[in-house]
Amino acid sequence: MPITVVGSIAYDSVSTPFGERQRMLGGAAVHFALAASFFQEVRVVGPVGDDFGETELDVLRNRGVDISDVERIPGGKTFFWRGKYGWDLNSRETLDTQLGVFEGFQPKLSESSRSSDVLFLANIQPDLQREVRAQMPDARFVALDSMNLWIEAARESLMKAIAECDCLILNDSELRQLTDKASLYAAAREVLSWASAPSDSSSGASATDSSPTDSPAADGDRGTPARRGPRVIVAKQGEYGAALVTADGFFSLPAFPLESVVDPTGAGDTFAGGFVGYIAAHADEEITDELLRQAMAHGTALASFNVEEFGTHRIESLAGAEIVARVRQLREFTQFSAAPVPLGE
Ligand code: AMP
Repeated sequence: MPITVVGSIAYDSVSTPFGERQRMLGGAAVHFALAASFFQEVRVVGPVGDDFGETELDVLRNRGVDISDVERIPGGKTFFWRGKYGWDLNSRETLDTQLGVFEGFQPKLSESSRSSDVLFLANIQPDLQREVRAQMPDARFVALDSMNLWIEAARESLMKAIAECDCLILNDSELRQLTDKASLYAAAREVLSWASAPSDSSSGASATDSSPTDSPAADGDRGTPARRGPRVIVAKQGEYGAALVTADGFFSLPAFPLESVVDPTGAGDTFAGGFVGYIAAHADEEITDELLRQAMAHGTALASFNVEEFGTHRIESLAGAEIVARVRQLREFTQFSAAPVPLGE
């Protein structure tokens, strides 16, 4: 099933202990699209300015990403982000965020983008995420990412956006910030409890038979059918991996062990691209916890490549066979047998 994604399309300037790069191609939607393009056709929605180069668009084109809905705004400036990492690559400092063409952007999705069955609302203002969501009322699987900035600056709109999606993908600290819970597991369970109780509340709902209109309480101001709220929560934990929480279970994977990490920027979006891409590639199947675990493994593998080089470079040169090999290795690294041992009282 094709995937539509909205989110930042950016220039990033990044400094890590291993070097510095200025105005690289970046943005949540870009990292997501490149990763998801290994699994399904991806359609990107979002604005860029006059300053955005054809070379950058070619990076997306070369991976077969549909950029018909990437709108060039005359006189506008492309979203810009500057960040700095210390030796702890798990935390970073944002030095500058310039929304540029995203300020006042009103997305108008083409027929093709609207017809995708899977929607990823990558990190950007929640109002914009909701505008895109409203144009795809029939999407069968909707996942959303966000960040501390929007939790602080646009909490009300973000809560509405979350209520309209099936799957929430957040950093662990953001999940805690959103719910005010110290335990990550409790935070994820809290978000699951926000879901309105539908007749079918299992996480085993199928992407093919579970449409957003199953529970059609209308959201008056936008005409979007009110969602039941997320049934799948993914907590990204940087170099510690990612955890999955559903009504039925819990699963966790470490990050793929690497000798060298150069630039973690976009790892979360690349993970999401692998995770959602895998689900989209199996969209005619029931979305069981087993399928979600496999999606976690693919997201983890993709993210591990992303951090090996600055920006999008490693993913640009990645081959499908490398992803398959890393998923296999990850399986070997994480399995163990629970052989019984006599234990004293
Ligand atoms: P990640 O490392 O996966 O959290 O994502 C990093 C990407 O997010 C970078 O390429 C940035 O361009 C983009 N980004 C940073 N801040 C924001 C923001 N406030 N809204 C949307 N995208 C952002």
